[in-house]
Amino acid sequence: MDPLIVIGGGIAGVTCAKSFSIDQPNHPVILVSASSVVKTIANLKTLGRSIDMFDVIEQNANTLKSSNLQVIMNKKVIRLDSNEHRIQLDDGQWLKYGKLCICTGAKPRMINVDNQNAQQFIRYIRDTQTAKDFTKLLAGSRRIIVAGNGGIAIEIVYAVENVDIIWAIREKRIGTVFFDAGAAKFFTEFLSNHGCKKTTGKPIKRTRYGQMEINDSSNKNEFGVALGPDWSQQLNLKGVKSRKKIIFRQKIDLDKSESWNIYVELTNGKIFGCDMIIVAIGVIPNSDVFVDDNNHTGLQLDADKGILVDREMRTNLNDIYAAGDVCSVNWPQSPHWIQMRLWTQARQMGFYAAKCIQWHLNQTNSDNPSLYFNFEVFAHVTQFFGFRVILLGLYDGQKMDTNDYKILCRVIPREAYTKVILKDGRMKGCILIGDSNLEETFEFLIYNQIDLTRFGDHLLDDHLDIEDFFR
Ligand code: FAD
Repeated sequence: MDPLIVIGGGIAGVTCAKSFSIDQPNHPVILVSASSVVKTIANLKTLGRSIDMFDVIEQNANTLKSSNLQVIMNKKVIRLDSNEHRIQLDDGQWLKYGKLCICTGAKPRMINVDNQNAQQFIRYIRDTQTAKDFTKLLAGSRRIIVAGNGGIAIEIVYAVENVDIIWAIREKRIGTVFFDAGAAKFFTEFLSNHGCKKTTGKPIKRTRYGQMEINDSSNKNEFGVALGPDWSQQLNLKGVKSRKKIIFRQKIDLDKSESWNIYVELTNGKIFGCDMIIVAIGVIPNSDVFVDDNNHTGLQLDADKGILVDREMRTNLNDIYAAGDVCSVNWPQSPHWIQMRLWTQARQMGFYAAKCIQWHLNQTNSDNPSLYFNFEVFAHVTQFFGFRVILLGLYDGQKMDTNDYKILCRVIPREAYTKVILKDGRMKGCILIGDSNLEETFEFLIYNQIDLTRFGDHLLDDHLDIEDFFR
């Protein structure tokens, strides 16, 4: 029997290979990983129907092996021959597959650099090695520029110390990927206080995970596995100054008295000098190897280079599936779900792809995958600036006309921020910052589209215990 081959040792690939090999113990599975460490999850906590909280840990790829799961590590796939149902590794070896699942993740989007000499002062954080390189350069830095406005940029601005940070963002406010204007204002208070960290004084209860040291050469390229959630805690993220200053959307002029490693010009015409630029402006799916310049395979890609998959994670090519950051969903999306390249979705897709592949192999011996379809309500749990942040449904009014919905908001300065979006009296999405414990109830309200008209504008009032109503 030709094996299921899963390409990629990130959350999506590992989840897919492991789930399939457990469900189908007599079916051979091969996981191909470009690195010797793989990502897996630990401390899974379910806070609602699709609200999962977990840690991402790195593990030696060998530990995944089982009687039907073989791991080929430190090997890259360099070619796909879909007609012959085979892939080629970088050592020349061809592997034949029965089914193939592509989980090759994404790589950082680059910026244009005129002067090649400047490259040495630019960092893109993706994996352990790039994070370490960044730390080394930071150790001698007086001023850095952070380009980007998503989760990684936010984490860097929050975590680095003893350095001036110019935060270069296109938008008018910080964190536009995850925050609305109100949440951005809530967090800006912290930044204006010189980027002070939120300290609760309470010990952190969950286990912290370090990144593994990898000495193999495969890690020195763009194929490393994306970092785990505690990446910034393991590193000494300090510059040379005695304190930290965050400059964003403020006017500062080129300091002519100091010389810098690199100068950048922003679209507002301002030129700034700095010791390093950290670029975190999004990712591009790692699909190149499967299409090459002439797309000889005919694999269909989205405009963002994501491999298009149907509702059962199938690409347009026979017996080939894709999951995680590398794919773009191409099914009619549920009204309250959106695709974002995040761990939660990588895990859900890897798991679901395993169920779909089994179903297509042998319908009598496996469950209908629709039982596991978990893409109804968008849910993301994370931490920003030391606060727990939960985003549910259309948390920023996505897919809706601004005049079409109503917002209710409750703010306890420096403690909590709660915002819900209602349309026709029904909850469409919400942002929960701080420990409100409302996530399960609000997820229920979004799933079931309960009519909340009777609460008027009082849904978030202090005296109204909304959880009790829907228990
Ligand atoms: P990846 O984890 O990227 O794994 C891809 C795998 O494919 C790797 O093992 C790679 O080696 C392998 N590979 C690639 N090409 C080949 C090839 N040709 N042959 C063989 N193997 C190959 N998400 C969150 O939800 N929360 C966060 O707080 C968060 N923080 C982040 C912080 C950083 C610094 C970064 C970079 C990302 C962060 N993300 C976060 C995003 C998250 O890491 C990704 O969404 C997730 O890792 C995607 O998982 P994946 O399995 O699809 O891909």
